[in-house]
Amino acid sequence: MNLLIMGLPGAGKGTQAERIVTTFNILQISTGDMFRLAIKKQTKLGLEAKTFIDKGELVPDEVSNGIVKERLAKRDVTKGFLLDGFPRTIKQAKALDTMLNELQKKIDAVININVKPEVLIKRLAGRFICRNCGATYHKLNNPPKVKGLCDRCGGDNFYQRDDDKPETVKNRLNINIKQSQPILDYYKKQGLLYDIDGNCDINLIFTDIKAIIKNI
Ligand code: ADP
Ligand code: AMP
Repeated sequence: MNLLIMGLPGAGKGTQAERIVTTFNILQISTGDMFRLAIKKQTKLGLEAKTFIDKGELVPDEVSNGIVKERLAKRDVTKGFLLDGFPRTIKQAKALDTMLNELQKKIDAVININVKPEVLIKRLAGRFICRNCGATYHKLNNPPKVKGLCDRCGGDNFYQRDDDKPETVKNRLNINIKQSQPILDYYKKQGLLYDIDGNCDINLIFTDIKAIIKNI
């Protein structure tokens, strides 16, 4: 089973992706996570991506397409995957079709999480991440069960993403709003799009997503 998860920054893609890949035993491929790892390791790709990410802009299509193509070619992808954060432009969507055709794979469903922009801004402002394992939390909505300790790995070192700062968030949202509609239309025409209300509780959203996945 090969899935895409879509939604504006802060919609809850990463939060739901973690639950989906655990429950359905598929692989999570997050372009944002891959870029952040490359930045941390200070690779050539990381240094290039950082100049765009810091401004809230999209990394150029050739670069994003390249890392996804490389990742999809690995053997573990045969168990199925969930792409999170890709495609973000219509050019990327078309490039993904070509990559999947070459690999004789296809997308089974595109899950789109809809959240009101004013809610997104609050979610991004309160998001923090475990530096050790990458688990995502929210100061008010989704704190760790034990204060100061990561539920997943027990780590006690958290950080806020640079691109979640208020100056960058507005630009990110505007760019993503403009780019996302044509992609949603593209998948809707193919009968692959499933819209989810993402304004409610994390567990309720996951229940909706599970129902969709079990039906495909
Ligand atoms: P995305 O991957 O789409 O950018 P995240 O999964 O990182 O979004 O979620 C953004 C922030 O909102 C995180 O701090 C997360 O804990 C919180 N969050 C995610 N889903 C919900 C929800 N349904 N209700 C409230 N907060 C949420
Ligand atoms: P995310 O973690 O998905 O919010 O992504 C963080 C940032 O990484 C985005 O704001 C972009 O700058 C960059 N990025 C992630 N995925 C893509 C993509 N598919 N295309 C272009 N840029 C991306």
